[in-house]
Amino acid sequence: MGTSAILWFRRDLRLADNDALAGALAAAETVAPLWVTPRSTGHGEAHWLAHSLRALDTDLRERGAALTVRTGAAAEALVAFAREHGTRSVHCSRIWTPAGLAEERVVATALEAAGVRLVVSEGSLLVPPDGLATGAGAPYRVFTPYFRAWEQAGLPAGPAEAPERIPGPESIAPSDPLPDRRAGAPDPTSWWTPGEAGAKVRLAQFVDDALEAYDEHRDLPALDGTSRLSPHLAFGEISPRRIVAAVEASGLPAGATRPFVRQLAWREFAAHVLHHHPHTLTTPLRAEFVAMPWRDDAEGFAAWGEGRTGYPLVDAGMRQLAETGWMHNRVRLVAASFLTKHLLIPWQTGARYFAETLVDHDAASNVFNWQWVAGCGADAAPYFRIFNPGLQATKFDPDGAYVRRWVPELAEAKDRGGYPEPIIDHREARERALAAYAAIRG
Ligand code: FAD
Repeated sequence: MGTSAILWFRRDLRLADNDALAGALAAAETVAPLWVTPRSTGHGEAHWLAHSLRALDTDLRERGAALTVRTGAAAEALVAFAREHGTRSVHCSRIWTPAGLAEERVVATALEAAGVRLVVSEGSLLVPPDGLATGAGAPYRVFTPYFRAWEQAGLPAGPAEAPERIPGPESIAPSDPLPDRRAGAPDPTSWWTPGEAGAKVRLAQFVDDALEAYDEHRDLPALDGTSRLSPHLAFGEISPRRIVAAVEASGLPAGATRPFVRQLAWREFAAHVLHHHPHTLTTPLRAEFVAMPWRDDAEGFAAWGEGRTGYPLVDAGMRQLAETGWMHNRVRLVAASFLTKHLLIPWQTGARYFAETLVDHDAASNVFNWQWVAGCGADAAPYFRIFNPGLQATKFDPDGAYVRRWVPELAEAKDRGGYPEPIIDHREARERALAAYAAIRG
């Protein structure tokens, strides 16, 4: 029997430009790919994962390997799998969240005790979260200088193609079934093709059809003006290196593509902030906000989640989220602002709801953006800048196409057609939010 390495797939469900895969192939004659299904997955992610893992298994089989699935704690599953295959090394990509790093430590210790080495690749970010620091050696808290340093860090070499052959071990240890689609969760296949092939097609379409006008269209939720690559990125089905390479190959001038590349840097800034301030998963970066007199409002929260606040843009967004697992960024901003300012419900409650429902959930981006909206994060919007959801709709959905798409009762009726009255008056809500903010400013 030849030597065998284990490739432990995590948030890197791709074969192209995957350093962990390249490492496993270099380390041994055969590669045994493993996925460990965690005991709990967000509702929004579960369905996507079911499709994505099937696509990954197909891609592996075409190259001579197959995906084995185990369920439960990664450390136990990997130790058992390593023993079954007589393996000396396990290869994986880093997940830079506190939970991902903690899992890595537990797995490394358990494998080491079994005489197996864990080899960790950097993961799916262009610049690792610990890779940049200010002149004073501190983490960045402001995006603009971070972005400047991020751009100067330069791009890593071009993305590697998927290997043509991935020789699997002769006998494959028994596999649990691939995780199933979850009943009741939104079906992403109406909107995306989960998996690496789908991600590549989506990227090519975006570069051909929407990249040039990205800056002009990115805030208009009725248009397909953004890439919608976020779930593919969240599952690591495509590397940001490949995205940037495709953008560069578009032939468009750098000035035209920079606004899009800048968004990829926001993703990495969020990872940077979380890495240096792991407590921001649950507590605000700006400590004074711990004392914010948030309200406990189960009814308001339910109306928000179900898209019946009586504010059409907020409700359209929340319904888009419920139906597709995704929401346009402009509307995420308005919906999150409504929850934290109009309803004065803690951002953590909103972030938990998004974590459970988003198909593109990313722990760093999610808590970062919630704190940004709620005025309590890094480089955040000031709390006293309170969106008027009506004006936001006029500005970003001027002919109401987005609202009509997701709140059909408003499209069909001349009056509000059974659509609820606003659950709170904008002016009253604004004053209440400002008073709450004044209370913590002392
Ligand atoms: P594009 O406009 O095409 O941008 C390209 C990529 O850049 C995105 O796929 C994403 O990876 C990254 N990006 C864009 N905007 C941001 C941003 N503001 N912050 C961080 N990365 C960004 N994004 C997530 O990926 N996961 C989340 O859990 C998440 N939670 C959010 C919560 C709130 C309250 C808000 C306001 C935003 C959140 N975002 C999150 C950021 C943003 O809304 C999405 O990344 C974006 O809408 C995805 O659509 P797209 O792929 O078409 O983006």
